[in-house]
Amino acid sequence: MSTALNHRTLHNAAHGDSAPPAVTDRAAPPSQEFLDELAAASASLEGSTPEEIMRWAHETYAPQLAMGTAFGPEGCLLLSMLPQQAPDTYVFNLETGYQFQQTLDLRDRFAEKYGVEVDLLKPELSVPEYEALHDGPLYKTNPTQCCFDRKIRVLQKAAEGRRAWIVGLRRDQGPTRANTPIVGWDKKFGLVKIAPLAASTKNKVWSRIIKEDVPYNPLHDQGYPSIGCWPCTQKAGADGDERDGRWAGTGKTECGLHTEQDGSGI
Ligand code: SF4
Repeated sequence: MSTALNHRTLHNAAHGDSAPPAVTDRAAPPSQEFLDELAAASASLEGSTPEEIMRWAHETYAPQLAMGTAFGPEGCLLLSMLPQQAPDTYVFNLETGYQFQQTLDLRDRFAEKYGVEVDLLKPELSVPEYEALHDGPLYKTNPTQCCFDRKIRVLQKAAEGRRAWIVGLRRDQGPTRANTPIVGWDKKFGLVKIAPLAASTKNKVWSRIIKEDVPYNPLHDQGYPSIGCWPCTQKAGADGDERDGRWAGTGKTECGLHTEQDGSGI
């Protein structure tokens, strides 16, 4: 995949000069020209393979490129491509302290099979400290605040010094993700967000995982379509929204990482 857009073009469009990007640039709203460039890049990548999109991301943003993963099937597939398509990309997982052991075990499986090291990023407070502070588990009474404290704050720190991140979003994961661009501006974190699997489908992702023997979370075989923290994950019917099993009964379907709202209480 070739595109006229490159790292310098996008940076200049965003900031109007040739200086290296600064962390403080993240606080500045991007120019309309920059957003237009991203939209053009996204349109030009429609129809490209995930590998081509990852190579573009690497050519455009490395070494200030990162990837976040919760070890969902999409993240697992992207991790399997990473050494070939976007080598040396910094990868992190938001380790809230509430993840399933089966999820955490995937970190070692990817290190062994692909040599990919996933950094487990933790909040400042341990689970016992956090629950003591709030007189019990906050996920029971205020899951939005819990997600903010244990995921979003941590990612805000991880975003410092980065310019772009790769995510495993797909448009067919549910209504909240239906308009996901391949390349877009993530205003919450001040990063370009790249979704190589945006136009892919659940079936295509799983076909490749099985065919290419990519490690995946064994909980999927036990009826969990979408896996996050254990207190907020339940089994869900196979015909429903893939994220129905997350925060079941609360109306919440996103942790806030991939929604547009800013600030506390999202
Ligand atoms: S998914 Fe649940 S336990 Fe995990 S951070 Fe969000 S509210 Fe807390």
